[in-house]
Amino acid sequence: MTKQTPRSPQTPREGQSSQEGQSSQEGQTQQEGQTPRQPQRSRPPRQPQNQRQAQPQKQNAKQNQIRIIPIGGCGEIGKNMTVFEWGKDAIIVDTGIMFPSSDMLGIDYIIPDFRYLLNRPDLTIHGILYTHGHEDHVGAAAYVVNSLPGIPIYATPLTSAMLENKLRDGKAFDKTKINIFQPGDTLKIGPFKVESFHMCHSIPDCVGFGINTPYGLIVHSGDYKFDNTPIDGKKPDFAKLAEFSQRGVLMLMADSTNSEKPGWTPSESVVTEAFEQIFSKATGRIIVATFASHISRIQQVARFAEKYGRKLAIAGHSMTENVKTTRKMGLLDINDATLVDLSRINSIQPHQLVIMATGSQGEPSSVLSRLAHGQHRSLDVMQGDTIVVSAHTIPGNEELVSRTINRLLQRGADVLYDPIADVHVSGHASQEEMRLLISLTKPKYFMPIHGELRQLKSHSKLAMQSGIPAERIFVVENGNVVVADRGGLRVGERIPGGYMFADGSGIGEISRTVMRDRDTLAREGFVMVVINVDRATGRLTSDPEITTPGFVYLHDQDRLLEQLRNTINEALIQTRTSQNGKRRERIQEALSKTLFSETKRRPMVITVVNER
Ligand SMILES: [Zn+2]
Ligand SMILES: [Zn+2]
Repeated sequence: MTKQTPRSPQTPREGQSSQEGQSSQEGQTQQEGQTPRQPQRSRPPRQPQNQRQAQPQKQNAKQNQIRIIPIGGCGEIGKNMTVFEWGKDAIIVDTGIMFPSSDMLGIDYIIPDFRYLLNRPDLTIHGILYTHGHEDHVGAAAYVVNSLPGIPIYATPLTSAMLENKLRDGKAFDKTKINIFQPGDTLKIGPFKVESFHMCHSIPDCVGFGINTPYGLIVHSGDYKFDNTPIDGKKPDFAKLAEFSQRGVLMLMADSTNSEKPGWTPSESVVTEAFEQIFSKATGRIIVATFASHISRIQQVARFAEKYGRKLAIAGHSMTENVKTTRKMGLLDINDATLVDLSRINSIQPHQLVIMATGSQGEPSSVLSRLAHGQHRSLDVMQGDTIVVSAHTIPGNEELVSRTINRLLQRGADVLYDPIADVHVSGHASQEEMRLLISLTKPKYFMPIHGELRQLKSHSKLAMQSGIPAERIFVVENGNVVVADRGGLRVGERIPGGYMFADGSGIGEISRTVMRDRDTLAREGFVMVVINVDRATGRLTSDPEITTPGFVYLHDQDRLLEQLRNTINEALIQTRTSQNGKRRERIQEALSKTLFSETKRRPMVITVVNER
């Protein structure tokens, strides 16, 4: 049965939001999930579910609508977040982040644009449910909880532990309450009855959800693959899926990541073969890079370390934290004697050591990238190292990954990665598994989620081939509302939304212009020109000061500086008569033009004109 976590402080809603089987009375004072925005004590008690359904009055039509709103994750890989509304009540599934593409300079990550929820004070959000602990599902938890405090969280044990770390880091831990449930438990959250079911993926404790609505059951797959030999031995809950289909599934919402991949995704166990090869052959250290949250991969590597008498060191803060948490929970099985602190690795023979590290995507701040650049404080690549990049490259990261691999090769390591060895299998279902999920659940409607548009489209084709008519398939992007009522399902309006970025200083909407400027600065450096001009005559009163930090065009710089001075003089002559305040811009434009024609580069030009 379920248990409530004793970890979080008592809150007024304690004991109300509860799982099925616990004393949760509908009509009890509805305080759970309320945000401080809502002085809701005056609200009348909620009607029991059966009574709601028994009142199909016209004016209640809107009140009884189910609205499904993908806030993130539809039309992109990352920042998954979906809102399910039932009249004025709502639950949220997942609040993930997305890593920025390489042209978004200075952005740490992108969070879902959930401002819609801030503009709906009439909506009571009863809970945030999590499918699993990957960053693209839990990463924005602290941001959401800080903006919408008081909403309880529901998650499986491992996901809860990862969320707890995240919320503490984001100073949001005491603004919510984490309710832990086991895969398979049924949750009663506000008027919603949600049935969880276990799915396999690349991290333990993954679930999907069956959400009961007055119009039928909506099944959300979570991230999944049908792995019959999972590393932790826990198979997908086929029985629950079959039971759902017997009861009738209104709509299936399913993970589309690999919808362009034919066949079946190999089991996590396939990687075992590749690691066997690597461990039996390597004569030096073995360094394995993967996602910090890829617990099943960490487990595999730990087993091989133990089999081959190697010690295991973990490099990288987030991976170290995850290993600590999962070991404590009994979800990761590593002997105490196997683990060794990174600071102690120099006392261990290279052939007796394995290091697990972050950085499989070439992320600049990761361990692997710092290794590649020789910038890690306690670790360096050595001749004879075998480095295994054990993760699929997320689209858009290819360039970074390839650059990192090249650098590691230059430093004398042997690098094994996806195209060379089977050192990774995907955690997501391929086409045959997608067909299987559709035929297992037999949904009336289908909505592909978790994918870029092309993946959503490709998934929708599979659904059509499986017999779901095209008009009952909703390929929608973020913000597009899917409405369910007595008339069936249809695509409704689009809620406003865009990008929300988070960088070191906080979150906010950073304009494309700011990002373009950061990009220019990083790529081309900048040229700064300070000019002192006599206001009356428009002539220079001293030599222009020209500084070029980061602008690396050093070849024949004297000539270039001379040309820039000439450009300034010409621009001053041209603007002498037209005293309309445009002087600075004119000079700046002219300088940019000269710089480009002379160097074929476009540094950012900053001009300061002091008129006296
Ligand atoms: Zn995942
Ligand atoms: Zn995901």
